[in-house]
Amino acid sequence: MKINRAGSGASSYAPADSFSGQVRRDPLVNAEAPGRVATGMVTFEPGARTAWHTHPAGQILIIVSGYGWVQVEGGSRQTVAPGDCVWFPAGEKHWHGATATTAMTHIAVTEFVDGSAVTWLEHVSDEQYNAG
Ligand code: MN
Repeated sequence: MKINRAGSGASSYAPADSFSGQVRRDPLVNAEAPGRVATGMVTFEPGARTAWHTHPAGQILIIVSGYGWVQVEGGSRQTVAPGDCVWFPAGEKHWHGATATTAMTHIAVTEFVDGSAVTWLEHVSDEQYNAG
């Protein structure tokens, strides 16, 4: 057993090539092989969001604070609030983030396949973000 103690992992800001706006990431714990799950707390400031992307084994989001938006390609934007839990199937193109006016924090649970947990695509344009 290992216990990742609170405060043992530094916060970092998500890179601008795969996120828009200010996004802070706080590590939680990742499995060791043969486990392949990774977890993290992600906080989006108002207007901030991921780029479009897919996950090779899908992804679970657990909304823990604030109010946010999620959207899959071809679908309408959905609002999410604390207590909501989201499942994106493997390969489903999507984005997640804050609303235009409120911050949002979620825990992300993502599995690695052949060393990769995400495939980043194009940014979510302001037009796409605001259109819903
Ligand atoms: Mn995702």
